[in-house]
Amino acid sequence: MAWGNDAADSRLHGTNIADSVIDTIGSTPLVRLKRISEIHGIECVLAMKMETTNPGGSAKDRPALEMILAAERSGELRPGGTIVEPTSGNTGVGLAIVAAQRGYKCVFVMTDKVAPEKVSLLRAYGAEVVVCPVAVPPEDPTSYYKVAERLTVERDAFRPNQYANPNNPLAHEKTTGPELWAQTGGRITHFVAGAGTCGTITGTARYLKAQNPAIKIIAGDPDASVFSGGSGRPYLVEGVGEDFYPAAWSPDLYDQVIPISDEESFLTARQVSREEGILIGGSGGMAVATAIRVAKAAAPNDIVVVLNPDSGRGYLSRVFDDQWMANFGFLRECDECIAAVLDARGDTPSLLYVNPSTSVRNTIDLMRANGISQLPVCKNTPPFAAAEVAGAVDELDLMEAVYRDSSVLDSAVEQVMGPKLPTIGVGQKVALAVEMLDVAPALLVLSGGRPLSVLTRSDLLSYFEVLSNG
Ligand code: PMP
Repeated sequence: MAWGNDAADSRLHGTNIADSVIDTIGSTPLVRLKRISEIHGIECVLAMKMETTNPGGSAKDRPALEMILAAERSGELRPGGTIVEPTSGNTGVGLAIVAAQRGYKCVFVMTDKVAPEKVSLLRAYGAEVVVCPVAVPPEDPTSYYKVAERLTVERDAFRPNQYANPNNPLAHEKTTGPELWAQTGGRITHFVAGAGTCGTITGTARYLKAQNPAIKIIAGDPDASVFSGGSGRPYLVEGVGEDFYPAAWSPDLYDQVIPISDEESFLTARQVSREEGILIGGSGGMAVATAIRVAKAAAPNDIVVVLNPDSGRGYLSRVFDDQWMANFGFLRECDECIAAVLDARGDTPSLLYVNPSTSVRNTIDLMRANGISQLPVCKNTPPFAAAEVAGAVDELDLMEAVYRDSSVLDSAVEQVMGPKLPTIGVGQKVALAVEMLDVAPALLVLSGGRPLSVLTRSDLLSYFEVLSNG
């Protein structure tokens, strides 16, 4: 590959020295996923567009460059100016790289759902990072959208707004699409990608469909995201799925949107990393999980391309941390695990819960009717995400509250609830539960990232009894 360089500088003639890091954005490799194909019995050609080889390590370098160049042309960004953007990290890195080269300051606004490494990474490029709570609606003044709006005004900054900026999909229409067309000799039959701002999938789809309208475009999507029919409730995969429709959302261009769970996304990311030696993140795992389904149904001569947006390096403390994975109930650490305790209990009741607005009176009735003394308080209705647990109530605390003031019986339970129960994964060790129950009255068991059941000391006692009788 030859980089463009300064033709006027004769010292560079005949060299392959890029003028700056900006000139190395794009032209990423396309690599077969042979081992994954073998494991999953895939007969067609399955290949991955490796966006990790961009200088910022993600697909977002492309729109970052396009958005900044367009803002320079339009005068929205002037020399020495400031860029403010709410971003989950990758767009931030792209913007920080281009800003460093072209002399701009950057302020990035993120939610606390984002892996901590991503915050450190942006600070390493000299950017300012503001972290906001994820658990507030977009119209709340502390939401990351609102904070970004305020900072843009205060700093007289340029706001690329990747969710609305037409130069985001345009970057992929101008680069990613043509690269894939050329790299497959025009024989690509399916293109699979995750969608966040929808810039990648829409821009690439526009170019590919213009070359050959028969090319199938398939989006992978977190199963709670609105793109695949969810309600935008919380999920753990980062950078993809939304609770609203961004400007680039173009359902006419997509042949299919396939919902994928957090669990399948994370386990696929781990499998690709181990089997192919390609370290990918949760959204890459989600895209590959989607591509596996598409490729299994494809004809042997088809060429299915999946775009991997970024590297697993940004997720070492989550997707690649066995403890984190086990605590959410995504991994089994042992045979003698919490699942065995629940099995021994036999009844495996569906999770009993109350909503934050349930009255204290109804909460007490529910506890009495089921003979239980702890109850999680969860927002919405099942299936819950771990992030929808708001707190917990305990018989003892309720008794004390009602004794002090009996009018509490008609208040919402959220007025008197205590902190959330500590969590344990369904595949974690019984010994860990024994240790945790030494201090906590009960534990919330998670499976596949979702609350499954409440585990108490008496559950453990019954289990030990069964073991000793067995
Ligand atoms: N994966 C990750 C990790 C991302 O940061 C993004 C960008 N939000 C995407 C996938 C999706 O790309 P796009 O915004 O172009 O839809």
